Amino acid sequence: MKKKILVVEDEEHIAEGLALNLEAEGYEVVIAGDGHAGLDMWRQGTFDLIILDIMLPGKDGLEVCRTIRAETGRTPILFLTARDRDEDRVAGFVAGGDDYLAKPFNLKELLLRVAAIFRRQVWYGTDSLKTNRYQFADYWVDFKSYMANGAGGEMELSQKECMIFKFLAEHAGEVVTRDMILDAVWGYNVYPSSRTVDNFIVRLRKLFEPNPSHPRYIHTMHGAGYRFTPQGEPDA
Ligand code: CA
Repeated sequence: MKKKILVVEDEEHIAEGLALNLEAEGYEVVIAGDGHAGLDMWRQGTFDLIILDIMLPGKDGLEVCRTIRAETGRTPILFLTARDRDEDRVAGFVAGGDDYLAKPFNLKELLLRVAAIFRRQVWYGTDSLKTNRYQFADYWVDFKSYMANGAGGEMELSQKECMIFKFLAEHAGEVVTRDMILDAVWGYNVYPSSRTVDNFIVRLRKLFEPNPSHPRYIHTMHGAGYRFTPQGEPDA
């Protein structure tokens, strides 16, 4: 089955150049010329990836992304933006984007990013923990439905929270570095700071630690990274 990519881009020559190159890689491509058209097409079709320009007439890329995420759409989103501006990058990730590329971009780089997003999708969908519903202590996380049962009862996790948790669980008992987490969940060099990982860990602790300031399950290894202990262990 060909992977299907929705390109939302108002600059025709860029959209067409993207389509040509993505099709040459064996992807199927649909182009939308503005945010509203992009949303309509996303609602009507099934896409494996959205390449979304931030600067769009009408509804901009960030708004399109927020709308898709609010409708619980989990299609990966790769943002394009006019300049390499940190604030756009951060806004893109906050809105729920998966990766980011600044214009003018190198097509080879774009194709690598696209392939990396699909690789991460395959990893996340792989049954490496032998179960879709991973149990530890009195808790569980369901990687398919994104539901979890934590210290505060049942709740829905975000895609990134699920991915980070899955990565920690796959490496239970081992120290994982922030770079390892960034690479597994976001891809290389896409995030301005590894502090982002720390923010997600804070959030996961709130969900799964009865006392987040003295974690039993998700431990900080100073100067190294994090270690998940499913059986629970007093904080050092
Ligand atoms: Ca544009």
